[in-house]
Amino acid sequence: MSVSSPESSACVPIELGERSYEIRIGPGLLDLASTWQGLPRAATALIVTNDRVGPLYLERLRTQLQPHFGRIDAVVLPDGEQHKSASSLDAVIDHLLASASDRKTVLFALGGGVIGDLAGFAAAIYMRGVPFVQVPTTLLAQVDSSVGGKTAINHPRGKNMVGAFYQPIRVVADLDTLDTLPPRELSAGLAEIIKYGPIADAAFLDWIEHNLDALLDRDKATLAYAVKRSCEIKAWVVGQDERESGLRAILNFGHTFGHAIETGLGYGAWLHGEAVGCGMVLASELSARLGLMPASFVDRMQRLIERARLPVLAPALGLDRYLELMQVDKKNEDGEIRFVVIEGLGKAVMRTASKTLIAETLAAHLDP
Ligand code: NAD
Ligand code: MG
Repeated sequence: MSVSSPESSACVPIELGERSYEIRIGPGLLDLASTWQGLPRAATALIVTNDRVGPLYLERLRTQLQPHFGRIDAVVLPDGEQHKSASSLDAVIDHLLASASDRKTVLFALGGGVIGDLAGFAAAIYMRGVPFVQVPTTLLAQVDSSVGGKTAINHPRGKNMVGAFYQPIRVVADLDTLDTLPPRELSAGLAEIIKYGPIADAAFLDWIEHNLDALLDRDKATLAYAVKRSCEIKAWVVGQDERESGLRAILNFGHTFGHAIETGLGYGAWLHGEAVGCGMVLASELSARLGLMPASFVDRMQRLIERARLPVLAPALGLDRYLELMQVDKKNEDGEIRFVVIEGLGKAVMRTASKTLIAETLAAHLDP
């Protein structure tokens, strides 16, 4: 079993040939000069952030970048998923063009997954690609969205429908930025961390159970290990399936039920991570009902998710509504509902389930 490293800093190398880069993890990284050394030289840099994260961290980042760039601009977007949009993208591109930024300009994404996805996509398309650095400031962005190279904006007809695969040249996950994160957002990030245990690493699941209280207390050494191991697992999965043809789907454990809950309640009612937390309880239940896992696994997952201050009861949307919502999930190919389920701790597989089985699964964890 892995044990908690006393180190509060870590580095995860992502091996992608010419596109290899490092994820640096630790407290105090933002204000550390060495964090920002070795980036490509350029006349200009552009920091993309939002009006919530900007007031907290923008000037500190700008101060550190000053020695490296002739001019450092910032685009401060309004906060919120609804601004992961074509008009925000246009604001970033327009700023780059109006300031005569060239193809060496380095883009910095300072914020959560919304800013990372949007700034990453802007970097991918501006002059067919400029260097891009991720500075994720939510736990979810540090363990999930800043790894794997997916960038996107939303379209009124669907989330993440316009995007590109584009890798950053560095990721800087400063654990101190998590101190200002609202508790619900912290728990939402924990859901994605918990996910990596059952799908890929049984020992990590044990470790999370032992260290959950320290994670909730935002202990830096404990967070450092959790972020590092999560990035390693995501990178390992993505490394075998960079363009999402198969294996990468296991990262969606809990997400089929989760997306149904998110959409069914209306976006924003539950955070994504909250829906995934509850979705993992349901997907664990389904794994047990398919005979792949013992009932004790469901209890174990439910307890852990509850301790992480995430919901474990499915909202009563009605079976037909659940089925309808899960059928339109974009991960489904032939109209069949496919689920990521656990087949032995640390191993995830895809299975289809009958309507009856889905009904029983939901009934076992329904909010009365
Ligand atoms: P988010 O970016 O909206 O951040 C959540 C909230 O926390 C926002 O209000 C934000 O302003 C605020 N915030 C951010 N950092 C803060 C800090 N340090 N202190 C205080 N407040 C802070 O949401 P998120 O959960 O980080 O990311 C969700 C987005 O990520 C979604 O758009 C999703 O599609 C995307 N995503 C992408 C991938 C990928 O592979 N590219 C993976 C998962 C999720
Ligand atoms: Mg997710």
